[in-house]
Amino acid sequence: MKIIAVLYPDPVTGYPPAYARDSIPVIERYPNGQTLPSPQAIDFTPGELLGCVSGGLGLVSWLEGLGHTVVVTSDKEGPDSEFERELPDADVVISQPFWPAYLTAERLEKAKNLKLAITAGIGSDHVDLKTAIEKGMTVAEVTYSNSIAVAEHTVMQVLALVRDYIPQYKIVTEGGWNIADAVQRSYELEGMDVGVFGAGRIGRAVLERLAPFGVHLHYSDRFHLPDEVEKSLALTFHDDIHDLAKDIDVLTVHAPLTDETRGLIDDELLGTMRRGSYIVNPARGSIADRDAIVRALESGQLAGYAGDVWYPQPAPADHPWRTMPHHGMTPHTSGSSLPSQARYAAGTREILEDWFAEREIRPEYTIVKGGAYAGTGARSYAAKPAQS
Ligand code: NAD
Repeated sequence: MKIIAVLYPDPVTGYPPAYARDSIPVIERYPNGQTLPSPQAIDFTPGELLGCVSGGLGLVSWLEGLGHTVVVTSDKEGPDSEFERELPDADVVISQPFWPAYLTAERLEKAKNLKLAITAGIGSDHVDLKTAIEKGMTVAEVTYSNSIAVAEHTVMQVLALVRDYIPQYKIVTEGGWNIADAVQRSYELEGMDVGVFGAGRIGRAVLERLAPFGVHLHYSDRFHLPDEVEKSLALTFHDDIHDLAKDIDVLTVHAPLTDETRGLIDDELLGTMRRGSYIVNPARGSIADRDAIVRALESGQLAGYAGDVWYPQPAPADHPWRTMPHHGMTPHTSGSSLPSQARYAAGTREILEDWFAEREIRPEYTIVKGGAYAGTGARSYAAKPAQS
């Protein structure tokens, strides 16, 4: 088979000869009891940089040893890119949402042999899923591999915005000590209303992590969380994002990008929020209207916006979110910490082992299969919930 892995470029200083820590923590199970990826073997040391070209997701020597042709590239945009040149006879495409190999309808049309698209990570919106369904392809992702990493990043960014951490850090590095400058936008999270949109694996973990801060927690999802969770976290449920947004000070966004969620955070929604609200969106950039976010920050309707997802990715140098006021954006890094890389590299190997052996891929990893949304895809991506 021919397998293309589209991975982000190596560090500008070269592939790391050593790491900041000697090991990563061992996680036994995910919070809902789901087991961690369990391939038959791995050819890397957890904690290594696997998501870049030289890391090759730890798969290259194994795949080549099995006789497959492997192309690893970061060159992914435009018809002359290595990705597009190699695509017509590829059987499998692997990419990470941080450096997505956009599999548009046009590209899928050219990829006559393509049967499997794997997201090494979570979120397969870079694949035109409708076309993948029509073509009878399988789309799989490594569910839960980086959900807690993203929840941690979300909490970090909520605190950074509300406390106004980034300008204070800059004052220090620039040699200053003006306390009045530093505190004029600094608030406290305690007592605020915090709302989560999309209370799945990440959203629920954010709710659980923010509860000890003494906030009032709200959420909206197509599904209710279990009664005992609603009670123990004292959650207020809202029917939709419109009902949620008007009652909160901080909104965090954790729904997938679908036809229902694209562009949801627009001028109208922002206008219903309390003046000086904060938004942290580590889900997908296109859930927000790019220019509406800039306008809301400039007018003061929003006091801060953070997250790590943009459109397109990589974001161009002149993307307005790089320079808008009061933002705390990172490049798409929250789910590509070194421990997350170890889990989604192992999960990608597990998916490939199953695929080669013609075994069923775990339903929790399955997004599209046999001409329909399936597994996690049926619950999280399909237009109408398959179950309640
Ligand atoms: P999940 O499937 O567990 O949770 C998604 C939740 O959103 C589900 O509870 C689902 O019911 C809900 N939802 C779907 N459509 C909705 C709608 N129209 N209205 C309200 N709720 C809706 O997924 P997850 O693991 O929590 O990940 C969520 C998203 O976060 C992914 O789809 C991905 O886009 C993004 N993500 C980003 C990173 C990153 O590195 N920044 C990493 C992982 C995931």
